[in-house]
Amino acid sequence: MADNTLKGRRMRGGVRPSKTFTSGRVCANMDCDTKLSQYNRREHCYAHAPVKFPRVRGRIITEGT
Ligand SMILES: [Zn+2]
Repeated sequence: MADNTLKGRRMRGGVRPSKTFTSGRVCANMDCDTKLSQYNRREHCYAHAPVKFPRVRGRIITEGT
């Protein structure tokens, strides 16, 4: 084996620390204490995230039936 194989070489500039956002945030909803992931850029938890649900002809979808 040759001696000049990759040996203990530091990768410079190649590996960046993953972006993290402020930790310890909670849902923007006043009554909600759900913690948000520091990787989650949203201000609300999944339950309170402004999501538009598609309308299904004004009918309520019943589960399981
Ligand atoms: Zn919430």
